[in-house]
Amino acid sequence: MIAANLQAVRQGIAAAAQQAGRQAADIALLAVSKTVSPDRIRAAYAAGQREFGENYVQEGIDKIAALADLRDRLQWHFIGPLQSNKTRPVAEHFDWVHTIDRLKIAERLSAQRPAGMPALQVCIQVNISGEASKSGVAPAEVPALAHAVAALPRLQLRGLMAIPEPAHDPAAQRRPFATMRTMLQALRADGLALDTLSMGMSGDMEAAIAEGATLVRIGTAIFGARG
Ligand SMILES: *Cc1c(COP(=O)(O)O)cnc(C)c1O
Repeated sequence: MIAANLQAVRQGIAAAAQQAGRQAADIALLAVSKTVSPDRIRAAYAAGQREFGENYVQEGIDKIAALADLRDRLQWHFIGPLQSNKTRPVAEHFDWVHTIDRLKIAERLSAQRPAGMPALQVCIQVNISGEASKSGVAPAEVPALAHAVAALPRLQLRGLMAIPEPAHDPAAQRRPFATMRTMLQALRADGLALDTLSMGMSGDMEAAIAEGATLVRIGTAIFGARG
């Protein structure tokens, strides 16, 4: 089941890339494994998947420990809201954090990243749909935060992440992703070496790829509906 789903998602990425005149190899697939047991993550690993995304600190840490035998072969991405009192375990165990939305969190992650590990790879989460309840930094604040984060010694700023408000028609899905693409281009023109647009989930992956996503975060289409 998981192997067949993964294959279908990879085919979907390839088709969307071709439609957009892009290379499928330029789009990474992050398997979002929140609520998914270590055994099912192992099944995805056996089917060739290497990058996994977790939303909750303790759940993620527990799974990284349960899959310690595969640690060197996996990349663990933290994609959930992060409170400042929970940064240390994330800095010590994850490879990526997609949800930087204020400088204080980034400073703590940089200070807490162990010396023996590579720099923590990070994205700034943008509140692209302007919903009061959603996390992420307002678009107008992105440039200042990006330059400050890029200057931190133990972080490597890779790009931007967003979770737009759900929309059903493809044109409405594409609009916020297009804004994200423009924002990344502006930061690059401003001297930041960024290569990542983390956007697109099971319901809007094609629209995100059409607008330049370099990493899609897919849960349901790989592991099924979360109970
Ligand atoms: C759950 C989640 C996903 C995956 O969503 P699906 O609709 O199951 O593909 C992607 N990104 C984030 C931040 C999530 O929390």
